[in-house]
Amino acid sequence: MIYFDHNATFPAPREHLEEVFSKLQQSDGNPSSLHSVGRAAKLIVEESRTHIADALGAGRRQIIFTSGATEGNNTVLHSMLAKITARKPRILISATEHPSVYDAALELKNSGKIELFILPVNQTGIVDLSVLKSYLEEGLDLVSIMLANNETGVINNIQEIAAIVKNHKTKPLFHTDAVQGLGKLDLSWMGKSDIDFATFSAHKIGGLKGMGAIYAKDISTLAPLVLGGGQERGLRSGTENVPGIISFGLRCRDIGKLVKDYENTVALRQQLLTGLEDLKLPLRCNAAGDSTLPGTIHLSFPQPIDLGMIFFVLDQSGFKLSTGSACSSGKAGSSRVLSAMGITGLMGEQTLRVSLAGSNTAVEIDSFLSSLYRLLKK
Ligand code: PMP
Repeated sequence: MIYFDHNATFPAPREHLEEVFSKLQQSDGNPSSLHSVGRAAKLIVEESRTHIADALGAGRRQIIFTSGATEGNNTVLHSMLAKITARKPRILISATEHPSVYDAALELKNSGKIELFILPVNQTGIVDLSVLKSYLEEGLDLVSIMLANNETGVINNIQEIAAIVKNHKTKPLFHTDAVQGLGKLDLSWMGKSDIDFATFSAHKIGGLKGMGAIYAKDISTLAPLVLGGGQERGLRSGTENVPGIISFGLRCRDIGKLVKDYENTVALRQQLLTGLEDLKLPLRCNAAGDSTLPGTIHLSFPQPIDLGMIFFVLDQSGFKLSTGSACSSGKAGSSRVLSAMGITGLMGEQTLRVSLAGSNTAVEIDSFLSSLYRLLKK
């Protein structure tokens, strides 16, 4: 198998699973139990929290565990309803947000709970800063703009954007869905930035699925989505997912190595794009600007082809990749993200996404190129 679908999920390496298992054996108690087994579990949970905070240059008490980034993103949006009660909160999101921000915000708007503004992106997929500045004049409570896009890999300059937002006289809160940035880009500056909230998911960095976290500069600006036993200082009730927390913590402990390894994707991307050109394959790379995750290569077929068949044969031959994003595959037509970038028609519909990790190799890229060549020749 050749795995090129790391933006959908980064399968947990075997050695990692073994380390999670051995740590879990030290204590699988309930972290809320007061006896020694519970206290040992609590210690492990706090150690993991520290690893995650360290990866962000933040404090341990600024990290809240969740079941994933979908819950994290929903929590941040819903917090606005609890904090602003005198009127409808005014929220701005970008046109290319993941559905866990976009659809959640749309639902809040459609049920009359918020005023929603959508920030367009330019042809390269980056948010339009001049439009952002004009929206800021409207008086906003929350701005939510993703760090890197899961479909195209386009990276927004989040530090600059957060500073623009926070320096505005109306001082809205600023959230970034940073899921696709963690483990690929150094984020150790975050704790000192203007970002108020950032959301993360463990399974995108080789951790277990169903695990995530919210970074909050000031946790008093957050409100819980899930109520109950008051875990996570009342911000996310429910017995802690100890295996998931261990896993997320261990992956963040090794984040420096992950980010360093990801640099390999710069050469792999170049090899893939040069190979497509040399072989004269009818594929075009979208989001090819400088500000793109090197390991995300988003390709379109401009001529009519049977994409389903190509995808099927590639899968059967061992190549695991996505048509568009895993979250939107299965949905017909052009993706919302591509439409927002003005990529429509066949270019928007017939897409393949290759998403690499640092552990992918030049031999795998060569093998992919020759399979694609043979397949398209046929
Ligand atoms: N945001 C982005 C940018 C993502 O790529 C994903 C995962 N597809 C999510 C949010 C949702 O994360 P989770 O799977 O942890 O709910």
